[in-house]
Amino acid sequence: MIDLISDTITMPSKEMMEQIWSAKLGDAGRLDSNGRGEDLTTNELEDLAAKITGKEAALFCPTGTMANVTALLAYCGPGDKVLIEERQHILKIEKVCFREDGFRMIPVTYRVGEDGSPDFEFFERTLDTEEIRLVTLENTHNFSGGTCMSLEAMKQIRSMTSERGIPIHMDGARIFNASLTLGVDVKELCDQVDSVMFCISKGLGAPIGSLLCGPKALIDKAGEWRSMLGGTMRESGVAAACGIYALEHNVERMREDHSNAALMAGLLKDMKVLKADPAPQSNILLFDLERAGITSQAFNERLKAKGVRCYLVSETVARMVFHLGITEEDTRAAAEVVLEIDRELLQEFSEKTCG
Ligand SMILES: *Cc1c(COP(=O)(O)O)cnc(C)c1O
Repeated sequence: MIDLISDTITMPSKEMMEQIWSAKLGDAGRLDSNGRGEDLTTNELEDLAAKITGKEAALFCPTGTMANVTALLAYCGPGDKVLIEERQHILKIEKVCFREDGFRMIPVTYRVGEDGSPDFEFFERTLDTEEIRLVTLENTHNFSGGTCMSLEAMKQIRSMTSERGIPIHMDGARIFNASLTLGVDVKELCDQVDSVMFCISKGLGAPIGSLLCGPKALIDKAGEWRSMLGGTMRESGVAAACGIYALEHNVERMREDHSNAALMAGLLKDMKVLKADPAPQSNILLFDLERAGITSQAFNERLKAKGVRCYLVSETVARMVFHLGITEEDTRAAAEVVLEIDRELLQEFSEKTCG
C-alpha cells in the first residue's frame, strides 16, 4: 500500500529509536519549584523547542490537539470570542473549545485565500466590531492544501492585533514545512505570534507528541490545563528523545515531500475528469472531485483497490499527503494509479452518455 492518508503515519527510524536507550528518564509529572518535571529528556526537548521558535518556554503535549486546546484555555474562558479561520483544525476537528458542552468559546471566522492571506480589510473591521480575545492562525493551512501564509501577511496581521492588544496563537502543526517553502526561518515566523504549536509526530517523523511554545506565564497556565486534562505524562522522555532526534535530523528532509507533491501534481496535470491542485505549496495535494461526479469516498475505494490510500476532507475533496517513507518511485506509481482511474472515469462517462 502506498499510504498517502497523512504524514502522521510516519514510522520512527532505527536511529531515532536508539536515542531512547540513552535518554535520561524520570517522572515528568513531579514538578520542582520552577514547574519543571523530573524527566530530563522531556525538559531538553522543551528547551530545544523554545529555542527554535524563539519563545521563553515550551510544553510537551501528547498530541497537537491537546497543545492547541491548552493554549486556547490559557488565553480564553467561556464566552470569549476567538477570530479563527473557518476551516482550521482547532474549529473543524478539535471542536472542544467551542462546543456548548465543552469550553464554550465563541468562534468568529475569517477565510484565507489560495495565497494563504486573509482579506485584511475584513480582518481589521472584525477586530474593531467584535470583542476579539484571541486571533488564531494555521500555517501551513491543512484543509486548504498545505498553503503557506507569508511572513509579510503574518506581519500585517501582527501589526493589526498588537495595536489593539490582542494576542495571536498559531497552529503550526506543519510550521517547518511552511518555513522550508517560504525560505524563512521558523523563528522569524514565530516572532509574529505570541504562541505556537508544532507537531513532531508528522513529517518530522517522531512517533508521538507536539510542543506548545510561548511566554513563560502562558506556558505555566497551559501546563495547569494539560495536567487537569490528563496530558501530563510520566517517563515521557521515551517520546521526547525521538522528538529531539527529529528536530536535529529530519527538518531538511521534508523538502523531498514537497518535491514529491509537486511531482505528482505535474504528472496529473492533463487529467480529463479528475482535478488535482496544479501547484501544491508544501506536502499536501488536494483533489477537487466536484466536476468528476464521484464522492471522495468512491475515489478512495478505487484508489485502495489499486494499492493507494488518501484522506477524505469532505464529500468532494480528497487529500494526499507526502511524507517520510514515500519515495519518488512511490509517487510515480501512485500517480499512475490516479491516471488509470481518470481514464476509467472518462470511459464510464462516455459509455453512459452514448448508451
Ligand atoms: C495534525 C494537526 C493537528 C494536531 O493533531 P494531533 O493528531 O492531535 O496531534 C493540529 N492542527 C493541524 C493543522 C493538524 O494538521
